[in-house]
Amino acid sequence: MGDVEAIIWEFIREDWPAAEFEQWVYNHPELEEFWGRSFYLQVISAGFVESQHVYELRESLREWMDLHTTSGCECVKWKSCFVLGAIIVGFQDGQEFLASKFETLKVQDDRRRLIACLGCNQKWYLGIDEIYVDHHLLRLSDAQTKEIIENTQWPTEFDKLNTYPDDYFAPMNNERKSYKSLLQRLRVPLGFLTAVLFLVFSRPSWQTIAIGAPIALVGVAIRAWASGHLRKNAQLAISGPYAYTRNPLYFGSFILAVGVVICGGSWWLAALLLGFFLAVYLPVMQAEAAHMHVLFPHDFAAYEENVPLFLPRLTAWKKTTARFDQRLYLKYREYRALLGLVVVVGILALRVVMQ
Ligand SMILES: [Zn+2]
Repeated sequence: MGDVEAIIWEFIREDWPAAEFEQWVYNHPELEEFWGRSFYLQVISAGFVESQHVYELRESLREWMDLHTTSGCECVKWKSCFVLGAIIVGFQDGQEFLASKFETLKVQDDRRRLIACLGCNQKWYLGIDEIYVDHHLLRLSDAQTKEIIENTQWPTEFDKLNTYPDDYFAPMNNERKSYKSLLQRLRVPLGFLTAVLFLVFSRPSWQTIAIGAPIALVGVAIRAWASGHLRKNAQLAISGPYAYTRNPLYFGSFILAVGVVICGGSWWLAALLLGFFLAVYLPVMQAEAAHMHVLFPHDFAAYEENVPLFLPRLTAWKKTTARFDQRLYLKYREYRALLGLVVVVGILALRVVMQ
């Protein structure tokens, strides 16, 4: 059944048109045994024409496959042109991840190479965009792989990666691009500096902590909830808090920051923190939206239209059956947000005691 799973994943990840998949399903009645009668009936009676129906079909197939199959390899779920972003805080570093799952077969230059998946032996063309610290992966056929190995015929898809000629973007885009990459590099040191300033200059009292700490805890809870619904890059997250805001992780961080600022009891620090948040995260969220359009060309537009970028809507956009997955919470090491909050509130409480 391994091949059948691979074919179904090909449809789910949008590498196979719905009409052809429909034909394939009709030609393979034995799928009834694979899926079981009721799910099989659900699939053959699904709409294969309207994009909304096709989207829903892919979603329910994905859920079924995640629940019922244990295909050892993640990369079967990836789209043929895939970007492993390193943007979202807390996600495993791209290099580290690739080194654990792939071996290098042939090197083109210091940012492009041919790699093979250690799990399923699928060959990928890897290109690293150093500006965005993104890893681009292109699924290769056996023929393409042979061309690379025997004739050193490299694909041309990544020729422009990170080597944008000056006229590739409009001047305004260039400016924004360099601002974003600057922020990307400065985000961690800036955040650290803000935290030190905050701890040194805050004026906490038991009252400010009693009001701020529960608010900060709500922020931590929103982040935790989001992390359990984020199947990064493999699937557009629309379940859980993602049905209310497109950026629940950042929204949670924002609420967390508001709570911490209240704990600190200093207004100019509040302004500083808010400024830091807007300057750093607004461009990051916009960059990610552009990135999502590339990753999910069909699904993202409808999602973007219905779910706000940051401030949540009041009702869930869509009811889904996707559940909170605590393995994801652990994988992203999201508990670090809670630990961080405990440390910060602890330090502030210590200052109150020592005043
Ligand atoms: Zn694989």
